[in-house]
Order: sequence, then structure tokens, then C-alpha cells
Amino acid sequence: MEYSPKKISAILEKYGFNFKKKFGQNFIVDENIIDAIISKAMITSNTLVLEIGPGAGALTYKLSEWAKNVLCFEIDRKLKPVLEELLNGKKNVEIIYEDFLTSNVNEKISSYSYDSLYVVANLPYYITTPIIMKLIEEKILVDKIVIMVQKEVGDRFKATPGTKDYSSLSVFLNYYFDVKKLMDVSKNVFLPKPNVDSIIIEMKKKEQRKQLIDERYFFKLIRDSFKQKRKTIKNNLKEYPLDVLEQVLKKYGFDLSVRAEQLSLEIFIDMANTIKEKEV
Ligand code: SAM
Repeated sequence: MEYSPKKISAILEKYGFNFKKKFGQNFIVDENIIDAIISKAMITSNTLVLEIGPGAGALTYKLSEWAKNVLCFEIDRKLKPVLEELLNGKKNVEIIYEDFLTSNVNEKISSYSYDSLYVVANLPYYITTPIIMKLIEEKILVDKIVIMVQKEVGDRFKATPGTKDYSSLSVFLNYYFDVKKLMDVSKNVFLPKPNVDSIIIEMKKKEQRKQLIDERYFFKLIRDSFKQKRKTIKNNLKEYPLDVLEQVLKKYGFDLSVRAEQLSLEIFIDMANTIKEKEV
């Protein structure tokens, strides 16, 4: 059938679908937004696109016209008949009805051949951060991420040192990706209309990254540094070699009374690497 987002309500109704808040179900019903996401993502014909939460398939349909393959993870099996009707005949789309967070994504990806791997999705907002952390921690090697997220969460993703939104997540993301906001999105493009504002952000894999001696240790050091946001590095990192940290911080004009929110990615890398160098 010819696809149009305007037909979504009718099809959902036909299959007696009820939106579930617990799954963060706010579907895009404005074709302009879908077109904007597609054009910003700049998908090539040899791209494998990973879509988390296809919903009724509004974005999926258009992704399939640009990508080599679209691999989707959808937790809600009730959407199966809807997606089957909407995506009927789209041979390059595979939908796995599983929780993305517990699925073995790398195994699923390994059966595809592609030049680049993109994540393009209107994410379920209640698990935005766990989804991004899964991509990083399970080394799902994505080249680019173009996602719709809650505005406040997107602000945290791209926050810089010294600002209120700067968090451990901002540092992790800044290590792997160049993060930028692409556009604001009105609440009116969703069905049902959410209570929060949304933005589309892009995260491009950094080609040049500083080497980490021990990646796990780097992650832990950052998490611990931000453990209690109002506390100083000295108080949050009591278990770490404070004399070494003091030397590193001094190079950047700081001492142990500094808070994590003031420290850039480069300083965290230097802190983690210097401790590891001194261990050997
Ligand atoms: N992509 C669709 C669109 O833009 O119209 C739907 C987006 S809606 C914000 C989020 C989708 O993610 C829903 O279809 C929901 O069922 C699905 N979802 C929620 N939690 C999930 C999970 N853990 N794994 C996979 N899909 C999930």
C-alpha cells in the first residue's frame, strides 16, 4: 500500500492498537519531520540502519528507501500486524520483536554486510540513556547516530564543562562522538502529544580519539568523579591516588577542590592514563 503518516491512526484503529505510556509510545504523524530526519541522516545505499522502536513504521518506511538494510528492534508485539501491513513488500527491513536493551545486537548485525552503520530513530524517551550506553559498552560500532530525544536529555548529551547540564554522560559521549543539535521539534508532530519538548541530535563517530590505557578504568573514574555532583574531586575520589590526581590537575590550573563539572574530557583522559602509567 502507498504509505502516508496520516493513515497511521486509521491503521492503528483497525488493529485495535492502544498506545502504551510505559513503552514511551509517541509516534510521528508529520511527514515533514520524517523527511527532515531522513535528509539530515544522509544515508547512503550501502548503509545498515538500526532503528530502535519502529512503532507504526512511519520512519522505517522511508529509511528503507535509502538504506541498504534496516534492522529494527520493537518491544511491543502488538505492533506486528500494523508493521506487516505498512511495510508489506519492503524486503530490506527486518524487525526483531525484542527488548533492545537485552538483545544481542552485535550478533544480529553480524549477518549483514554494509559500509557504514547508522542508528536513526525516534527513541523511547524513558530509556534514551541506557540505549546510548548499550551502544558504547557493548561496542556496537556505529558511525553515526541521528535520534529524536527529549530536549532536556539532548542538552545533557551535548553539554560542555562548567554548564549545569554537564554530566558523566556528556564526557563519555564527547569521547566517542561529535555531538550536535540538528533541530527543535514541536510536540504537535506526535500522536499522542507528549508533555515534553523534543530535539533531533546527531552524534558522529570521532575519527581521532586519544588512546586510553584502560577504558573500563576511565569509565569508572568519570562515574565516581560525578557521583555526588556538589562534592569536590578530593571527596568523590577518596579511593584513588590523590597525589597523582593532584599533579595532573595542577597542569591545568586546578587542585583537588575542583568539582567534576569543571573538568574537560582531555583532563579526565589525562587523569585516568596517568594513574594507569604509574601503576606499571
Ligand atoms: N519510530 C516510531 C515513530 O517515530 O513514530 C515510534 C517511536 S516511539 C517514541 C518509541 C518506540 O519504541 C515504540 O514503538 C515502543 O514500543 C518502542 N520501544 C519501547 N521500549 C523499547 C525497547 N526496550 N526495545 C525496543 N523498542 C522499544
